[in-house]
Amino acid sequence: MSGFDCDLFVVGGGSGGVRAARMAAQRGARVVLAEAAALGGTCVNVGCIPKKLYSHAAEYADHFRDAAGFGWDLAPARLDWERLKKNRAHEIARLNGVYEHLLRSAGVDLVRGWATLCDAHTVQVAHADGARRWRARHILVATGGTPSVPHFPGREHVLTSDQMFDLAPFPRRLVVVGGGYIACEFASIFQGLGAQVTQSYRGEQILRGFDDEVRTFLAQEMVKHGVDLRLRSDVEAVERQGDALAVRFAGGEVLEADAVLYATGRIPNVAGLGLEAAGLRTSPHGAIVVDERFRTQVPSILAVGDVIARVQLTPVALAEAMVVVDQLFGTGERSLGYELVPTAVFTHPTVGTVGLTEQQARERHGDVRIFRTDFRALRHTLSGNPERTLMKLVVDAATDRVVGLHMVGAEAGEVVQGFAVAMQAGATKAVFDRTIGIHPTAAEEFVTMR
Ligand code: FAD
Ligand code: NDP
Repeated sequence: MSGFDCDLFVVGGGSGGVRAARMAAQRGARVVLAEAAALGGTCVNVGCIPKKLYSHAAEYADHFRDAAGFGWDLAPARLDWERLKKNRAHEIARLNGVYEHLLRSAGVDLVRGWATLCDAHTVQVAHADGARRWRARHILVATGGTPSVPHFPGREHVLTSDQMFDLAPFPRRLVVVGGGYIACEFASIFQGLGAQVTQSYRGEQILRGFDDEVRTFLAQEMVKHGVDLRLRSDVEAVERQGDALAVRFAGGEVLEADAVLYATGRIPNVAGLGLEAAGLRTSPHGAIVVDERFRTQVPSILAVGDVIARVQLTPVALAEAMVVVDQLFGTGERSLGYELVPTAVFTHPTVGTVGLTEQQARERHGDVRIFRTDFRALRHTLSGNPERTLMKLVVDAATDRVVGLHMVGAEAGEVVQGFAVAMQAGATKAVFDRTIGIHPTAAEEFVTMR
């Protein structure tokens, strides 16, 4: 060990940190992991998992309504918000325990407290009884990110996604500001759960960066579901008026709300981390700068996940962690490309996408062929629900490779995950055409579009 207390010190017990710590320990490394809050990080505690559980809760509203067309007579449904919160909290606590068990059984030394970098090889962890220092051969920073809210009058009255899971009481009138993943997902969820949701986005269309047709289609579907979507809309101020909030928009309109959610992006967690003492550099947006192997400019310190702010998704943090572990304790052959990262936005209906948007493909490949269809899913021929599904393929004309695949519809995430494998394997449109569909499904449309 040549003077080191451990081979790897991991700062942060979220998606990236836990994966790296576990995998390194399983390869025989002596690993210490410090976590200041709950194990599992953003994804488990205030991100993917509780969000998806609430998204399922919201889907029931549609299912109850849709059931009538299939012959079911149901008593009017009523949401018990307190029961939903309690059951979610119970499941999250169970997952916290699973994470702790996974770490301990892999032999990771788990330390509770805030970690600060002291130099290129030293980490100090502060906890209730004082502080302790470790000398580590390698340090991995996986401290994640935190919501960012712009400065404006009344900022102190608004909420971030972190607070949405335990709101009391349930907000009957919710204003959501933003047009990204979190704004769209929470607008959909709370609308489904029974709130009247107004979503205000400053730009021309929600979900900047996604395929333009997907963006327009989703916006229409969200409006059909009842979300009052306002584009080119800016909130100027929020004031407290008794139990309610008055939200003043540019242009003068004032809307009363019970809660206001700001989903205006996330910033890397680097405050109080000791970056300067360790000699680490950050980008203008505060992200730790790393190379393609996740090494910072200090050879002993690496970083993965939201703190490097490349692609802020759990499976990406996990994949980055695997590259780091392979590099430090394996063959060093593993690498990661960001070209074909599949992703879903868990709105109602869901967006699933992998590869290039039509516009990106035109810029990169010039000549592209587009295949698209939009239709009413079989379920809704009886349910009467006006929801429609969009499916779209973007094909590079020169090579016949499918370079973009997009869907807005039920279970789009489940559907797109499978097609992402085909695209990783370099599938052409001819391969899609040779593939037999599963009938009757929505997914079969991807192999029958001509
Ligand atoms: P985190 O998971 O944030 O973990 C960082 C950990 O470090 C935290 O536990 C923190 O307490 C700890 N920490 C920070 N500083 C210190 C310190 N100095 N000392 C000790 N501990 C410290 N991604 C998806 O793929 N799918 C989804 O559906 C999805 N939904 C999301 C929904 C929401 C509302 C949000 C906010 C995010 C969502 N994400 C989703 C993104 C996903 O949660 C993140 O990309 C992922 O959690 C990043 O993992 P990480 O390890 O980088 O950081
Ligand atoms: P995003 O970056 O996706 O979206 C931020 C939104 O806020 C954009 O619409 C942006 O507008 C708007 N915005 C930014 N600054 C301001 C401002 N000052 N005033 C008004 N509007 C502003 O961030 P999110 O917070 O939604 O999510 C963070 C990340 O977490 C995501 O990018 C994603 O990687 C991850 N995530 C993944 C999920 C999933 O996988 N399903 C779910 C939730 C989060 P503009 O477009 O004009 O810049």
